[in-house]
Amino acid sequence: MHVCLFDIDGTLLNTGGAGALAMERAVGELTDGSDRPLDIPYAGRTDRAIVADIFRHYELDFGDAALRNFLGRYVEHLDEMLGQSPGLVLPGVERLLAHLHQREDVILGLLTGNFIEGARLKLRHYHLDAYFDFALGGFGDTHADRDEVARVAFNTLKAHRHPEQIDLRRLWVIGDTPADVKCGRAIGAKVVAVATGVYSSDQLAEHAPDYLAEDFEAVDELLELWPAIG
Ligand SMILES: [Mg+2]
Repeated sequence: MHVCLFDIDGTLLNTGGAGALAMERAVGELTDGSDRPLDIPYAGRTDRAIVADIFRHYELDFGDAALRNFLGRYVEHLDEMLGQSPGLVLPGVERLLAHLHQREDVILGLLTGNFIEGARLKLRHYHLDAYFDFALGGFGDTHADRDEVARVAFNTLKAHRHPEQIDLRRLWVIGDTPADVKCGRAIGAKVVAVATGVYSSDQLAEHAPDYLAEDFEAVDELLELWPAIG
């Protein structure tokens, strides 16, 4: 089996700022409109790491209860913001997923820094949720370090499929940042990097992905990476 683990933001879709806005609103409720400006990077990072930075910035106590509470507020804002933001599904993504989804020799999963509920909302909003089994993959709830999220994703594959179906030569991570390349390497996967996020193809090339695409418009070319098995 080929296994394709997809990142979400900048790879499958762009929420048009809805994710960051929802974070900011949830933070605003915690801090009562503190005027300490917040400037933290998002791309390629896990939501858990982002929220930990936010809590540190405002000197708030960070623990599982605080995270759960924050997450509840974030998800509510995200639901609302998605409906108001000019986001889009990135070029070629629908064709690519539709093709891979109907194949018997391809397993589709997620490897994302998003909290699982955030991932679900984003994919549902853009009608991409039906392509993925949410039990297969790694999400930003449990680990701040994306490499650890990749290990969780790998473990879910082994738990939900016959381990002999998982062949490292056919395990792919697909994402838009150097962190996606790095976490793919952490589990011995091959990596497709796509320049539809904040990183240019020149910047991504420095991290030596196995395949580099400007976007997924050339679906047929991409599909050569995953030839029919059997
Ligand atoms: Mg991304």
